[in-house]
Amino acid sequence: MKVVFCSSEIFPYAKTGGLADVSGALPFALAAQGVKVKVFMPWYKGISPDKTYPEYGYSKKDKVEIYFVKSDKYFNRDALYGTPTGDYPDNLERFSFLCKKIFALLKEQEFYPDIFHCNDWQTALIPVYLKTLYANTDFSESKSVLTIHNLAYQGVFPKESYPVLNIDWQYFNMHQLEFYDQVNLLKGGIVFADFVNTVSPTYAKQITTKEYGCGLEGVLSEKKDRLEGILNAISYDVWSPEVDNSIYKKYSVKTIKNKYINKLKLQEDLGLKVDKDMFVLGMVTRLAQQKGVDILCQALPKFISNAQLIILGFGDEKYHAILKDFAAKHKAQFSLNLKFDEKIAHSIYAASDAFLMPSRFEPCGLSQMMSYKYGTVPIVHNTGGLTDTVTDYNQGGGGFVLTEYSASALNEAIARATQVFKDKGKWENLVAKIMQYNFSWDVAAKNYIKMYKNI
Ligand code: ADP
Repeated sequence: MKVVFCSSEIFPYAKTGGLADVSGALPFALAAQGVKVKVFMPWYKGISPDKTYPEYGYSKKDKVEIYFVKSDKYFNRDALYGTPTGDYPDNLERFSFLCKKIFALLKEQEFYPDIFHCNDWQTALIPVYLKTLYANTDFSESKSVLTIHNLAYQGVFPKESYPVLNIDWQYFNMHQLEFYDQVNLLKGGIVFADFVNTVSPTYAKQITTKEYGCGLEGVLSEKKDRLEGILNAISYDVWSPEVDNSIYKKYSVKTIKNKYINKLKLQEDLGLKVDKDMFVLGMVTRLAQQKGVDILCQALPKFISNAQLIILGFGDEKYHAILKDFAAKHKAQFSLNLKFDEKIAHSIYAASDAFLMPSRFEPCGLSQMMSYKYGTVPIVHNTGGLTDTVTDYNQGGGGFVLTEYSASALNEAIARATQVFKDKGKWENLVAKIMQYNFSWDVAAKNYIKMYKNI
């Protein structure tokens, strides 16, 4: 089977969130199971491919070929999609260029895949193009899958930009690319793709409802027979305290004591009181409305008297400002790091006792799986992929679950976790248990291959 995997971000080349982790792992897991995979992404500033050509860069890792689509005009910028004040205004041009260029490069190579696997709005035009621009070409046998990593980001642009797409106006209608008089790329991808999936079973059900459908619940419900949830996984080559070179001291389930060396060192590095018995809550997150920063801020004045909080986050300017205020008020207990920093992220997973993920909604979430592996107990809101991966301690599970989205539920969950933390024996058993959970990619890759074959 031949698969072309298209993504706007792939770890380790470019990353703003979980999409990069998935795109940096799934193609390799597919290749390990015999699929021939070519991966395409933009050639952003700072990426150094092994070989460079005028229109693209090329690297090969394990059995996977990686192509970086070049355009100085579109991709040689400081950020991937925009800055904390807003998105780049020419994102439609940038990502429609990417999609068209992928077809052009494949045609040059005479590589006609069985499946185009596309991800989120940035590559959602590929299923559209397959059935319009490329309908009667050598690509006519190729099928497409669109994976929705987050329905809240749809790639919506003014109607006036439609001609940039190079497709007839006939497709600009409410059943295809139009969304309330604007162009909606994700909607187009959902309608035109041969199959759609999202990244957890619970989120797959949620997105067909008004509450979580972000206005697309109608088209998604129509697609019900070709919509499925496949739970994401994580790469233990990157996310395991046994092999992690970014952390201060490696450890495993047999050497859990070494986890606390990481804790003391990070407390020291960040200027917090160095205290093994202090309950340390970590959070590594995009600072977006989705992630529950509002209830976190409401809950903070209460829980901060008995715990330390370490946040590594980057995103909306609004949340930067609110969190800075809190950090100024609670200097001794709260370390705020407003940036994107892969190395500190690893240190936080390793050093924290518990990890906060009070997301309002969560398509899958990877941070809770990473936390498990580092023996860091997740405290999560019961939604989407968090529902599928975290069971409450009281039900024999490995985390603490907020049953409603509120500051009081968050405080209650933190208080319950603190109680268990104080009982050293119980806490150590919990830590040892979650470190042995397995969320590796081989299972998820098998599910994707099954889906490709069905198509
Ligand atoms: P999302 O994709 O919605 O951002 P996920 O939980 O699926 O959420 O994945 C988040 C990924 O991004 C994890 O690898 C997490 O460690 C990483 N991440 C998020 N924010 C930061 C940051 N400020 N610095 C470093 N890594 C971050």
